[in-house]
Amino acid sequence: MAEITLTTLKDSKDLFLGSIPRVPQGHYVHFVMMRETESFPLFQTDGALNTINVRAGLSNAKTISRLVMFKRKQSTPERLAGRELLRSLGVISEDVKGTKCVYNAPKGGACKTCPDCIYYGYAIGEGAEKSKVYVDSAFSISPYDMSHHTFAFNAPWESGTMTNDEGVTKVSFGSQDHIVPQVFFPAIVTLRDPIYEGFLYVMGNILRADRYGAQDTRTGKVHNHLLAVVFSNGEIFSNLRFTQAIYDVLQEKQQWNEPLDRDNVLSVGQEVYLSLMKAEPVTKQKEWVGGDLQQMVSEVTALYQDEKKTADLIAKLDKATKSYANSSAKANE
Ligand SMILES: [Zn+2]
Repeated sequence: MAEITLTTLKDSKDLFLGSIPRVPQGHYVHFVMMRETESFPLFQTDGALNTINVRAGLSNAKTISRLVMFKRKQSTPERLAGRELLRSLGVISEDVKGTKCVYNAPKGGACKTCPDCIYYGYAIGEGAEKSKVYVDSAFSISPYDMSHHTFAFNAPWESGTMTNDEGVTKVSFGSQDHIVPQVFFPAIVTLRDPIYEGFLYVMGNILRADRYGAQDTRTGKVHNHLLAVVFSNGEIFSNLRFTQAIYDVLQEKQQWNEPLDRDNVLSVGQEVYLSLMKAEPVTKQKEWVGGDLQQMVSEVTALYQDEKKTADLIAKLDKATKSYANSSAKANE
């Protein structure tokens, strides 16, 4: 297996652990991003979009209603993107070939050794594995009022028209709220105690996942813009705090448009990230923003465009997660 070395990470080997530790070691890498809707996804429970009344900004004290993207609405598409890759490379399978690993089966079916099981966790009776990838609810920068649209849906007669042979016209009988394109959700995904291959796996999943929502028919396109990748010895600010700070700055700069402008949101997002980091009581070990970050994103993208390199990366990671699973099993004996 060839060593996969990215130019942007070449001098940063010391940021990564040599193996996946059984107990937390206080190493964190945060993927700070701006999730942007690019079609009409539904983040909902029981037919209604998820919303919550919260303070608009850190300084602006008025209360507004924001859309919420709960944890699983964010993590599921990312882990499924990873599982699809593992399956395509034969690392896991849903049938008898290779390591059988079934996702979310009611009676269990997790293999407990693959990169997905070890990184994103599973919970089946004894020996559940905690996720090493942390996500938290994300909130729209813009209020619910300017972030959704209600579409009425009609059921045409069999002929496909709205009026039948007797001249009876059907009226619309239902409506559904959809999130509109260009709604922004500031969001941080944190990976605990990263080994090199685990870092590239989680980052790859973030870059490759692009369809979010509930079931298949309820999903929509979401693009993840990375604003920063930062290694630290602790956790950092919450998604809500990040969102509120961005709201204040967009208002101050008079960049509040409907819909919000992507360039403004991304540049304010980076600026706010840098200022909030200054107030965090953690040691910042290394940080990528701006051009350096774009270079890293290009390199990781190129890695995943290369079938051979991707297979090498995943094989190494699978070896690391299997050896972690073995050592955990021994420790529990
Ligand atoms: Zn598995």
